[in-house]
Amino acid sequence: MNIDLEKIEIFKSLLDQPKKVVILSHTNPDGDAIGSSLAMAKVLQAKGHSVSCILPNRFPYYLKWMPDTDNLIIHAQDKIGIAQSVIAAAEVVICADMSSLSRLEALSEVIAQNNHAKRILIDHHLSPSDEFDLVFSFPESSSTAYLVYEIIKAAYGTEVLDKDIATLLYVGMITDTGNFAFSTINPQLFRAAADLLETGIDVPTIYNNVYNSFTEGRARLFGYVINRKMKTLLKGTVAYLSLTEDEMRRFWFQQGDSEGFVNYPLSIKKVKMSAMFSEQQGSFIRVSLRSHGNVDVNTFARRYFNGGGHKNAAGGKSFMNMEDTIAHYIKAVEEYHAEGLV
Ligand code: 5GP
Ligand code: MN
Repeated sequence: MNIDLEKIEIFKSLLDQPKKVVILSHTNPDGDAIGSSLAMAKVLQAKGHSVSCILPNRFPYYLKWMPDTDNLIIHAQDKIGIAQSVIAAAEVVICADMSSLSRLEALSEVIAQNNHAKRILIDHHLSPSDEFDLVFSFPESSSTAYLVYEIIKAAYGTEVLDKDIATLLYVGMITDTGNFAFSTINPQLFRAAADLLETGIDVPTIYNNVYNSFTEGRARLFGYVINRKMKTLLKGTVAYLSLTEDEMRRFWFQQGDSEGFVNYPLSIKKVKMSAMFSEQQGSFIRVSLRSHGNVDVNTFARRYFNGGGHKNAAGGKSFMNMEDTIAHYIKAVEEYHAEGLV
């Protein structure tokens, strides 16, 4: 993966004097969204910029330990319009880990009202939209955090990386690659990780903070969902899980508690595709999709659930009730199967 040096020059010239910068990432932010946004923010702050990081909604509680999360502005909880005012004043808007402004949901309208700021995209999803002035789009990159690392390195050198910035980037890299295990990893990523380790980051502690910091309720909910709610289709090769709000309440659900559940059916040798349906405060059903190898859930999410993502990890939404959503999924899986796609 090579970053166009002309684009790095444009990036630097957009930020050649202290600017008001807003960094945004996607709804239901994950380790990569938060890590890449906050790392870029810290680098730009050290260069003298005034930087605000805004997320559309809350992030999972078990990522709260990450450096600088106290500075995140959460639009859904922002009753006094801080997000609106910093976006209105922004001279540069950087969108990280999302391919179109629509992934900001209600915030996308706020961004649309600022027509003077230069918009920069840093992302690894397919099909970036044309809403940006400067685009760093690398769908082959395993995480946005890796891209942020490459951009920082090309623009300012690895000397600007400190332990906190490296920790943020490392979290993005591990959470989007299953701790360096997915097919998207490559030697450059390991070289980048080596540079992060040079800053003295504490890898075992980061691992424990990310993967072993859940509540008891989450562990019990997980057991319940796998035991009682996992169903399979097509002779056990396709699986799905579902979670209603009532079930969440029974297990003292906290935002983020069901993250990762969708991956578990893929630990069954025969399973090639997995889905998770979770009710979202009575308004819609969140759909998460994961797959192995050639089964393309990005196409599946676009076709059947008005969503998108990556080939092996995608998501979308359903505005039907749970029963109809599952019926729609079963029909979609059969159609996909008939086309030889799963
Ligand atoms: P998750 O299942 O963890 O919510 O999302 C997996 C991947 O799919 C992420 O890369 C995420 O950005 C993408 N994704 C999730 N929901 C949506 C959606 O509603 N629309 C689009 N375009 N992508 C989504
Ligand atoms: Mn990502």
